[in-house]
Amino acid sequence: AAPVALVSGMSRTSRNGIVVKTGDMLEKLSTAKSAAFDKTGTITSGQLTVNQIVPQPGFTAEQILHLAASAEQNSSHILARSLVKYAHAISLSPATQLEEVTGNGVTATIDQQQVKVGKLKFVAPATTDKPLATTTIYVGIDDQYAGYITFIDNVRPEAAATLQALHTEGVQNVMMLTGDQQAIADHIAESVGIDTVAADLLPADKIAHLKAVLASERPVIMVGDGVNDAPSLAVADVGIAMGAHGSTAASESADVVILKDDLSRVVTAVRIAKDTMQVAK
Ligand code: ADP
Ligand code: MG
Repeated sequence: AAPVALVSGMSRTSRNGIVVKTGDMLEKLSTAKSAAFDKTGTITSGQLTVNQIVPQPGFTAEQILHLAASAEQNSSHILARSLVKYAHAISLSPATQLEEVTGNGVTATIDQQQVKVGKLKFVAPATTDKPLATTTIYVGIDDQYAGYITFIDNVRPEAAATLQALHTEGVQNVMMLTGDQQAIADHIAESVGIDTVAADLLPADKIAHLKAVLASERPVIMVGDGVNDAPSLAVADVGIAMGAHGSTAASESADVVILKDDLSRVVTAVRIAKDTMQVAK
């Protein structure tokens, strides 16, 4: 397309709160055949709130909140940010030997205790308990499963209409790629009109899924917000970051950054891209 048309398309997206880093992205957006979405913070709202804190026998809710929030103070994960925000009124302890285990959670030493926060199979690999069918982080203290914290993780009000509009614009396969559990993913996917779901994925698994799609349904859009989405945003033909609440790593790896906390801007971007290519012909 003529560079002048692309520049004008990019200024139009920019006026709509969408940063398109390079002009060739408009070309790819205008003919996108498939789109993959992360779940937490992308299909669901970027504002999660703590619902319940449930200790195991021998532990208290105060203890779990204090240790989990202390362990999560430096994590950019949306569950971590939401937890720390909820715990703003309590004074946190410093965390040492802090380690973020990609797609699983964090480990840290807090007040001489070994604290683990994240997925059930990460925190309590030996437990026979099934993970809850709601967005939950589990807490371990000194190798004991100590309790869990649940979140209200609402589907974005604009999610269903956005996916419907993408289908109308010719995006035939709309996927969800999530690190969360299958049951939660299926439930949310069904409520918003996702075509295919892949759950329980580590960041490397998200890439493997995208590569399979890249072999057949290009151009492929990937939309995500989290640090764990950054690698797949880089692999997709058009990586789109939800930049309002998302991690810096996601925005840096993306080709397009949406500055408003509004998923429907993905459709706005596709529509402007189509107009632009039309004019450019
Ligand atoms: P999604 O693809 O749904 O955005 P992620 O891949 O970011 O999810 O994370 C998958 C799961 O890993 C989360 O649902 C959570 O259970 C766990 N997890 C990852 N990082 C953290 C963290 N910092 N704190 C708590 N849990 C985490
Ligand atoms: Mg996410």
